[in-house]
Amino acid sequence: MENIWLSLILSSALAALAIWRKAITNKGIAIAWLCSVCICYFGGWVNFLCLAATLICTLIAGKISGKKRENAEKKLHAKHGKRDGVQIICNVFMSALMAIIYGITDNHIFLCAGAAALAASLADSMASELGILSRGKTFDVLSGKATEPGMSGGVSFFGFAMSALGAAIIAAISLGQGMGVKFSVVILISGFVAAYVDSLLGAAAQAKYRCGVCGALTEKKVHCGEKGAIEKGLSFIDNDMVNFLNNLTGAVIAMILYVVI
Ligand SMILES: [Zn+2]
Repeated sequence: MENIWLSLILSSALAALAIWRKAITNKGIAIAWLCSVCICYFGGWVNFLCLAATLICTLIAGKISGKKRENAEKKLHAKHGKRDGVQIICNVFMSALMAIIYGITDNHIFLCAGAAALAASLADSMASELGILSRGKTFDVLSGKATEPGMSGGVSFFGFAMSALGAAIIAAISLGQGMGVKFSVVILISGFVAAYVDSLLGAAAQAKYRCGVCGALTEKKVHCGEKGAIEKGLSFIDNDMVNFLNNLTGAVIAMILYVVI
């Protein structure tokens, strides 16, 4: 694109949408806007449309899952409601970085990696937002044991389908923008695989605490007003870190596939 005015206008429109839907905190908006300007200016229409689709589909998925998701989040997750600055950095920084590198090198591999990072974000968002509506069993991706819907590392067949749909949306946009079949297939695979790795990390490494008051297993350090004991995972790996690693995985797998295929 390399049109700074258009990049500023388009990014402001996305930011306005996020503010209107009360999706992101003020600090988060500022960071998201800045990342969007980089993605738009360096990554052009391909990356910008992927970013816009990621935001819009995440908002729609959140609207569909609504109350059910909110209740699960309150119970399990450390953060719920609006996405804050750290969450935004963990979800869009990688694609902004890839767009900048593409701008400098003019090598399509980075354009593909940036879109793949967004595909990983959307695949994960769709799986966690909509997977919670699954009527089938939710099971731990590592142990295969039944687990509470919405818990990190919990997967369901419906969630996998939604994850594939998220990656497919970004792949379809790239195809529609004339990026070709190879480019799009790479995005589809890397987005889906990254979301799966996200679940693995959620199950294996993310910190989970046992509440001493109500006995619930939760991602919250403090539950029922008291600090819980760490039961699984590593204390420094929280949901934000897992999301960052998800985006990084998407970008890395895309670069490998782009060279191999
Ligand atoms: Zn509790």
